[in-house]
Amino acid sequence: MSDPVLTAWRACRDAIEAASAGRDITLVAVSKTQPVERIHALSEAGQTDFGENYWQEAADKITASRGLSLRWHFIGPLQSNKARVVGRYCDWVHSVDRAKLLPLLAEGRAEVSTPLNVLIQVNVDAEASKSGCTPNDVAALADRIVDTEGLRLRGLMAIPAPLAEPEARRPAFVRMRELFDRLRQSHPALDTLSMGMSDDFRIAIAEGSTLVRIGSAVFGPRA
Ligand SMILES: *Cc1c(COP(=O)(O)O)cnc(C)c1O
Repeated sequence: MSDPVLTAWRACRDAIEAASAGRDITLVAVSKTQPVERIHALSEAGQTDFGENYWQEAADKITASRGLSLRWHFIGPLQSNKARVVGRYCDWVHSVDRAKLLPLLAEGRAEVSTPLNVLIQVNVDAEASKSGCTPNDVAALADRIVDTEGLRLRGLMAIPAPLAEPEARRPAFVRMRELFDRLRQSHPALDTLSMGMSDDFRIAIAEGSTLVRIGSAVFGPRA
């Protein structure tokens, strides 16, 4: 293990703990572009959850990590033609934003004994270029997921618009928290609100995030 990564990972865990006010927060280490050796070294230090954006890269790393009990989170835009394999080989998918994906994910999951954990990605700042459904579409999509065998709805995910000042993203985190609370009135088992990255995870946690996805603050800047 390159020591700087281990040191940065520990510092992140401490910062998450300090921001959490005693709540349980899951750290997903976003390992896109990082070599699999780094993943294995962090795994040895106790990190269990890893996030990847691109299916082919995820597939190679999952294959190279058989035998380790890691949890793989697919966090990137999900193309229909990748939904079956993502459904089969990942533990979580954070980027479900349309009903069309559901039968494909379920088909991929059919041979697996545990359900696939699903988050609905919400385009919280209504950005033209971004994945995610509108806040208004969440309730109907949630009902469809709950009705799909092999899928287990766990909550919501969002990536606010990358405004230069992280503090400016706080209102988006607040809107996500409100949406999550409303959805929990009809789906009380939901327990996961995935929001917060390297430069804004403290704000996201303060506003109710239960899971943060952190890449560069753990691994250093991406090449
Ligand atoms: C890359 C990525 C992250 C991590 O971003 P950092 O700023 O490096 O922490 C988190 N979530 C998603 C969806 C990403 O694509």
